[in-house]
Amino acid sequence: MSAIIPSNIVMSGIRPTGMVHLGNYFGAIRNYVKMQDEFECYFMVADLHSLTTHPETAELKRNVRRVLAENIACGLDPNKATFYCQSHVYETGELYLYLNMLAYKGELEKTVTFKDKARQHPENINAGLLTYPVLQTADIIMHRASLVPVGKDQEQHLEMARNFVVRFNHRYGEIFPEPRAFNYNQELIKVPGLDGSGKMSKSENNMSTLYFADDNDTIKKKVMKALTDGGPTEMNSKKPDYIENIFALMKLVCKEEVIEKFESDFNNCTIRYGDLKKQLAEDMINFITPVREKTNDILANDAYLIEVMEKGAHKARESARKTMDLVRNAMGLNYF
Ligand code: AMP
Repeated sequence: MSAIIPSNIVMSGIRPTGMVHLGNYFGAIRNYVKMQDEFECYFMVADLHSLTTHPETAELKRNVRRVLAENIACGLDPNKATFYCQSHVYETGELYLYLNMLAYKGELEKTVTFKDKARQHPENINAGLLTYPVLQTADIIMHRASLVPVGKDQEQHLEMARNFVVRFNHRYGEIFPEPRAFNYNQELIKVPGLDGSGKMSKSENNMSTLYFADDNDTIKKKVMKALTDGGPTEMNSKKPDYIENIFALMKLVCKEEVIEKFESDFNNCTIRYGDLKKQLAEDMINFITPVREKTNDILANDAYLIEVMEKGAHKARESARKTMDLVRNAMGLNYF
């Protein structure tokens, strides 16, 4: 345990590798919006992290703007939180370098996300991918943050961040609080995909993920295609995983009485999955439409997005400069 007491500082990020989806919202952004009223918050578009798997940068400018706009449309307020692009904080590269000396090859190779991505992109297993959790730690501790609102898939990375922080503090002095993954409802969440397996994700399976950019017909089509079956034949039976997942999605957007009705229909073996999916599609459309429309309005105002990026970069760099002074002094990299 670090002797440093936890800070009231929050940090998290989203990669601009594709369009923002409901997994991003319910796993992370929903908490950003709540936390910005209670804590000092730093949220970033993780454009450097995206280079570990998406080295082609032709689309980056457009994707960064979309992720900025989608977060703002979801309620993130750049006047309350510091909202910036990762690559605008040049100090991150320096801290990442120092932390790399405290991260071991063996532990990095065991990281689940590294193994998954190495399997998906065998032609591009680069050192940036291997040290992804080190860069993430640099981003978090650059603002000496303690609270990191993220989805379940990030749990192991946060555990690694704590290890790197403990090692740094032990070797060079107590500078950083230990960061931890945060969700208001305690348990970190994983929003499942519509295909009965896996999770919603930016790039892996477009048909099983609901994006804020989806139009109403696309939402309906995706939901109606969700995997179901002929329904249970025994009263009060256990739900198969793919049905459990659909109920989990309903809990995100449907009214309680609607869920209770379908739960009871399931238990009585009278459930009609066609009706359930129609209801889910309608509630998803009602949830997604206002965010999609607001995103389009924000994207039409490029001057505003540039202003957000400039203001965010200024505030994030100010915080980074202070941290790096402490780091260089603690490490003895102050020769005159
Ligand atoms: P990424 O899209 O990987 O940059 O992730 C941005 C944030 O969204 C991170 O906090 C992730 O943990 C979260 N996230 C991504 N996909 C999901 C999902 N399916 N369920 C819950 N959280 C997610």
